[in-house]
Amino acid sequence: TMAHSEALLVLENFIGGRFVPCSSYIDSYNPSTGDVYCRVPDSGKEEVEAAVKAAKAAFPVWSSKSLLERSQILNKLADLIECDLEAFAQAESKDQGKTITFAKTVDIPRAVYNFRFFASSILHHTTECTEMASMGCVHYTSRAPVGVAGLISPWNLPLYLLTWKIAPAIACGNTVVAKPSEMTSVTAWMMCKLLEKAGVPHGVVNVVFGTGTKAGEALVCHPDVPLISFTGSTLTAQRITEKSAPHCKRLSLELGGKNPAIIFDDADLTQCIPTTLRSSFANQGEICLCTSRIFVQRGIYSEFLKRFVAEAKKWKVGNPSDPTVNVGALISKEHLEKVRSYVKKAQAEGARVLCGEGVDSLALPTGNQKGYFMLPTVIAEVKDESCCMQEEIFGPVTCVVAFDTEEEVIKRANSVKYGLAATVWSSNVGRVHRVAQRLQSGLVWTNCWLVRDLNLPFGGMKASGIGREGAKDSYEFFTEVKTITIKH
Ligand code: NAD
Repeated sequence: TMAHSEALLVLENFIGGRFVPCSSYIDSYNPSTGDVYCRVPDSGKEEVEAAVKAAKAAFPVWSSKSLLERSQILNKLADLIECDLEAFAQAESKDQGKTITFAKTVDIPRAVYNFRFFASSILHHTTECTEMASMGCVHYTSRAPVGVAGLISPWNLPLYLLTWKIAPAIACGNTVVAKPSEMTSVTAWMMCKLLEKAGVPHGVVNVVFGTGTKAGEALVCHPDVPLISFTGSTLTAQRITEKSAPHCKRLSLELGGKNPAIIFDDADLTQCIPTTLRSSFANQGEICLCTSRIFVQRGIYSEFLKRFVAEAKKWKVGNPSDPTVNVGALISKEHLEKVRSYVKKAQAEGARVLCGEGVDSLALPTGNQKGYFMLPTVIAEVKDESCCMQEEIFGPVTCVVAFDTEEEVIKRANSVKYGLAATVWSSNVGRVHRVAQRLQSGLVWTNCWLVRDLNLPFGGMKASGIGREGAKDSYEFFTEVKTITIKH
């Protein structure tokens, strides 16, 4: 159904500094109402070809600008996005289903910070130099931008994750062709409107909208795009790896997770419970870093469960623009069905659903009856082998299980194909170090969650990804290094 009161928002591709219409479009839904409210270009080879051409043409001038000039432009862009923070947050919420509060406090401020961070960090890298006195030689390394970078991002943190790629890519002197998720394209399009004013030359940032299989693959297969930075699912990453293999492309892959929280009986539950609720249900559980397996030591298992479930029931689900709401809508009808199906499977296997889906009733405001909402759901007594404990659900569903020993819980926490993020809760310093060292996880947060220093590496091991992003890591990914030897 179409929204009657408002005109449809129609997006256009941004190529060579100009907005260009497309010959066909995809419907985009407002997840909190179920209405089609926006049309997104359904780009393919032709549009990608034009965007790559524009990016190639812009490369010589952009890559030869001084670091300071590029840094100033990135800072200007950050300022312009920040000026429109409210409008960006509202758009992100409408497009994605997340609450306006979350978009206003997490997504958009982080998008602004991504540009500021790389505007600054790019000025401070140094290269290496060694001396080989006996040969009369010095060696040094030199780094240069690679060329046209292909950037592909998912729907859960749309502008946040896209700018986390655009900022380092252009700060290093590359030009880019970006393809946001077809389900959440609006804020990327809004950002394009600010590029000229920020001083970003035409063709440095091109955005092509469309689906993964058409626009995404055209970008991945384009011979003039030597590197692809991708954030999304493990399945898509396999496809991208296959498609890019004939071109030997450089890939950075940030993928899914099945993140454990390990809670020892000496944990401070007054900190642990609210943080573990956030780590399970923030952004509707649609964050790659969200906790979905909670291991609680037997001595505090029943107390933890009681308090955790009581608090989970307080999370309010509903209209994303209501400031008292904690949980907005899931991204799509299909995704909601998929997340619900996991709860059904758990029940069929004999697990207990303690609150949420199928247990409590969800009352929605009149305007949101057709939205894709779901209550925060806690499942207990689920086996480690269950799909609910093995597969990424990516919704407001978390499983709680008991454990006895440190040795046992490390083994169980590591017994999934993923390895993105973990949290460890204990007041024993020795134990948190020991456990953190042994977890197969790219990120380990002890006694906290989602506290990030962008200077340090971000990314996953095992099926959670290849490569890392961060000040130094993104700089290395987005530049080509050369070793030069001088003999005197
Ligand atoms: P997805 O893999 O379906 O899509 C991601 C992007 O890839 C979209 O832009 C999509 O259009 C594009 N795409 C799809 N098929 C493609 C193909 N064949 N070729 C090229 N591009 C293609 O993922 P999603 O459902 O949008 O996002 C959710 C997933 O992302 C979850 O698995 C989540 O864990 C993961 N994620 C990971 C991180 C991280 O940093 N590790 C962050 C956020 C999300």
